[in-house]
Amino acid sequence: MLSPMTAAAARISFERAAGDRVRRLVATASDGARQRLRPTRPRMRALTVVGGGKLEWRSVPAPPPPGPLGAVVRPLAVATCDLDRALVLGATPFPFPLRYGHECIAEVLSVGASVANITPGQRVVVPFQISCGTCAACHGGRTGNCTSVPPLSMYGFGLIGGHWGGAVADQLAVPFADGMLVPLADGLEPAHVASVADNVCDGYRHIGPYLPSLLDERGEVEVIILAAVSRRSLFSASVPLYAGLTARALGASAVHFVDCRPEVRTQAARLGLNAVAPGALRRGFAAPLTADVTGQPGGLRRALSLTAPDGICSSVGGLHRSGRLPIGEMYMRNATLSIGRTHARAVMPAVLDLITSGRLQPERVTTTVAPMDDAVEVLRAHMLGDSTKTILTA
Ligand SMILES: [Zn+2]
Ligand SMILES: [Zn+2]
Repeated sequence: MLSPMTAAAARISFERAAGDRVRRLVATASDGARQRLRPTRPRMRALTVVGGGKLEWRSVPAPPPPGPLGAVVRPLAVATCDLDRALVLGATPFPFPLRYGHECIAEVLSVGASVANITPGQRVVVPFQISCGTCAACHGGRTGNCTSVPPLSMYGFGLIGGHWGGAVADQLAVPFADGMLVPLADGLEPAHVASVADNVCDGYRHIGPYLPSLLDERGEVEVIILAAVSRRSLFSASVPLYAGLTARALGASAVHFVDCRPEVRTQAARLGLNAVAPGALRRGFAAPLTADVTGQPGGLRRALSLTAPDGICSSVGGLHRSGRLPIGEMYMRNATLSIGRTHARAVMPAVLDLITSGRLQPERVTTTVAPMDDAVEVLRAHMLGDSTKTILTA
């Protein structure tokens, strides 16, 4: 059954370049038939979410040789996304089956004839969103809304993201090698930075664009990060933890990390954040920069209530079709609200700068590292347990 949000997501994903999306869908659906006619085409394994909370390896056609602008890569380290538990358990609008995984570091296997800056053998970050690097949106730093591909084009989200494949596979096709792939600096361990493909950038974007100018203006700035306001939240806490580490790295005078899950607060405290339960915030407490990473309308309302006059609230929004906003309160306080998806590729250079300079260590958030060959069992444990960040390595 499709939820109302699935219908909304599908409508947005087909808003532009619908023919392109349908062609990819048909091409993927007919892969099996073509394979039966041409059984010599190389095959590979790809982890697939099949519904009922189940993942299984499937044998699928390997990507064809890359087009002029493309590349084929081999994932070396794949990270879970904070959305994955909800996704695999069927609590998101993404219909099954879908190829699993969208955050990876990979080795380049082959590149197309017109690729200038990426060469086989390089280790690269593969952004989870598909972007060309040359359209006006990409030039403007809005790579999550690249106009060369259908809206919401992403790895690992099936029908809604488009059929680009998943990262837990032997190979992955990258349509725009120069535009998308970011070479990894020597010495960086793929397992340490696998989540830079999505979640680390997603944490950074709530802080990086705002904190430096607030610090210039005010000298001292406290930051409040809302991670979960419900103990039933299925979302992992890596994005808010990366946001907290980024805020510390960029000089916030204090980082208050709000989560109602005791185990997440323990992890946040170990990372040097001021971890508190939602009920422990004193009345009237507010900060000039707040991040709502709850994915819940109630969490967004709470974050807005914690945003000081002339402050900024950066929100992930969520998968709810709608939610109430305290518009009067926002008006009285002059609140600025930013809501939406990350533009991962655009912020990636700034994120990698923080990492290579040693100021941001995303590996401190990782809770499990395991071989990719064991993906089915390891991810099952992740989905049913409370691991914050699981990394699979080839
Ligand atoms: Zn993700
Ligand atoms: Zn583009």
